[in-house]
Amino acid sequence: MANHLHDALFGRHEGSGAPFLILPDGSEMGHADFAARAARHAGALVAAGLGPGDRVALQLEKSPDMLAVIAGAIRAGVVFLPLNTAYTPAEVSYFISDAGAGLLLCDGRSEAALAPVAAAAGAAIATVNADGSGSFVRAAAPAPVAERGPDDLAALLYTSGTTGRSKGAMMSHANLLSNAEVLCDYWRFTAQDVLLHALPIFHTHGLFVATNVALLAGCPMIFLPKFDAGEVLRHLPRATAMMGVPTFYTRLLDDPRLTRDLVANMRLFISGSAPLLAETHRQWQARTGHRILERYGMTETNMNTSNPCEGERRAGTVGLPLPGVELKVCNQTGRELPRGETGTIEVRGPNVFKGYWNMPEKTAEELRADGFFITGDLGFMDSDGYVTIVGRAKDLIITGGFNVYPKEVELAIDALPGVLESAVIGAPHPDFGEGVVAVIVPDPGASLEEPAIRAALSVTLARFKQPKAIAFRAALPRNTMGKVQKTVLREEFRDIFAS
Ligand code: AMP
Repeated sequence: MANHLHDALFGRHEGSGAPFLILPDGSEMGHADFAARAARHAGALVAAGLGPGDRVALQLEKSPDMLAVIAGAIRAGVVFLPLNTAYTPAEVSYFISDAGAGLLLCDGRSEAALAPVAAAAGAAIATVNADGSGSFVRAAAPAPVAERGPDDLAALLYTSGTTGRSKGAMMSHANLLSNAEVLCDYWRFTAQDVLLHALPIFHTHGLFVATNVALLAGCPMIFLPKFDAGEVLRHLPRATAMMGVPTFYTRLLDDPRLTRDLVANMRLFISGSAPLLAETHRQWQARTGHRILERYGMTETNMNTSNPCEGERRAGTVGLPLPGVELKVCNQTGRELPRGETGTIEVRGPNVFKGYWNMPEKTAEELRADGFFITGDLGFMDSDGYVTIVGRAKDLIITGGFNVYPKEVELAIDALPGVLESAVIGAPHPDFGEGVVAVIVPDPGASLEEPAIRAALSVTLARFKQPKAIAFRAALPRNTMGKVQKTVLREEFRDIFAS
């Protein structure tokens, strides 16, 4: 046995003089320096009593050392749980208890608040600060590479848990490596690329999609601590590729400094984690000359589909199933539907996770015995294989017995003059079960009138799909990955139809 994930991502760069991370001030961290840090972090994990299969939780600011801790965990065979920095101590308490983590790593600033939580869960605590200082890193001797097989766990990624308890998705070494290999090849990454990285690294997008692809290609990353439009624009001229969530693209479009000349060196802009409006796609092309490549994936499955590098990048779609990924659109009983019909997307392949940690019933509900994972996303596939996502199954609105797909109503609203974007939700309704509610964000400076919107929608949408209530807002609530938080809106409009 070996440790293929470690060897493919990190081992082959050991001793390399090439730069790995380009930091905001222009300084560089080479592969050799990074590997030495990772080996010391692996040593510190072993010194803390953790061995292969044990769990370490990290709630750290994005930094080279956070990445080196993750590399160290892979080296030592320790399963890592990266946690969103926005989680409160009460939430962290749930994650470390559920995962049975033996160690919690946090920033020095949050140590006092998290120490009682770690103690209650029986976990040790140590600090890793963004500048590389902290109690964890002191004087650890490098640890050797632990042997791990393809089905051994590499990481536990907790889902955002918008319904019910957050679940720990078990990601194996083979899940991560197989997907990174496919993406690196599909998106034509090479050592000549320079990837601009402004995503968080507690989430699959910034951690596995972006970082693992760069490591496999052997290209450096411009490693920014967070998304800041000014900083991204400052570094774009040096980059050849960027991966972002749709809000990156809309915020950059808001800045007049984004021009064709600024991105003259660019090869590829990739978007995912939330739907990219076809309008954003069009505006980006008009401004920069580049067609954004949109792809679709999720925590449990890594990436499932992507628009092609060379072929047609079709706006509003998430492209074609990736090589090795089987994707079908099914009804509730799992029967495959004909092309063009909307249903639940199911996927199978080496990318699909091993199940939810300690939740065999939840796993059985969502992962079929034949290996297909029920994603909970609703969509359809065109005759030529392009997939379009129309929403989440739990967002489906059933009004008076009719199904309404929020995306269809949102697209009709977004097409109206003066509308920037919209979110459509269902709210409890005394007669209809649920009523359609539209929350609309006007274009800057535009003034929209409800009667005009109603009149326009009455032409494009069947009566049952037309909103029974319309509200205007300056912005939609979004999480750090750019996803519209429909749960927040559902809560806000819960009583709108109460009689
Ligand atoms: P997460 O597990 O946080 O990565 O969220 C995964 C969910 O994000 C998916 O199940 C989709 O609902 C959504 N998602 C990801 N990429 C896209 C995309 N390109 N278009 C629409 N929805 C997406």
